[in-house]
Amino acid sequence: ALASDDVARLIRWADDFPQPGVRFADLTPVFADAAAFADVTDALVAVGRDADLIAGIDARGFLLGAGVARAMRAGVLAVRKAGKLPPPVHSCSYSLEYGCATLEIPADGIDLTGRRVLVIDDVLATGGTLGATVELLEAAGAEVVSIAVVLELEALGGRGRLPDRPLTSLLKI
Ligand code: IMP
Repeated sequence: ALASDDVARLIRWADDFPQPGVRFADLTPVFADAAAFADVTDALVAVGRDADLIAGIDARGFLLGAGVARAMRAGVLAVRKAGKLPPPVHSCSYSLEYGCATLEIPADGIDLTGRRVLVIDDVLATGGTLGATVELLEAAGAEVVSIAVVLELEALGGRGRLPDRPLTSLLKI
């Protein structure tokens, strides 16, 4: 759990971004605030339990994932948008709140067999991104022990569309 209400207060809300009808939660001010960033990463560390690898989703999940991994003395894995990694890659395509996307991780150079992974992202909306990430990691042999986000947009029903894994959100709106 979060230590204070400051995180929620720091979220910047934007109407009609990136498309008309979408209300976008921008967590940039949360990450830029020293106390709020520490509060968020500490709360995510508590969710991580015995994970030995933190998978952060492109791009704000990278920032959170690295902070959490360092605090837990775990490894960190960047789950990338398509086209950023040299082949061979594992990839998974999915549809999201606005459009369609593909996520990738390396299929070589890192053995995920038996790795215990905590998956982290900033926001859970429709659940497509986290669902694809879990699929990707498990196809590569990892065990997803937990999923955590800073903010869950409950109205979009993402939680109900995710595979049955422990899912923690620090804030729900
Ligand atoms: P989902 O796949 O619909 O759950 O969308 C989650 C992904 O899109 C995450 O990687 C988020 O970073 C991004 N996203 C969707 N909606 C928002 C938002 O309101 N604020 C910030 N990121 C969002």
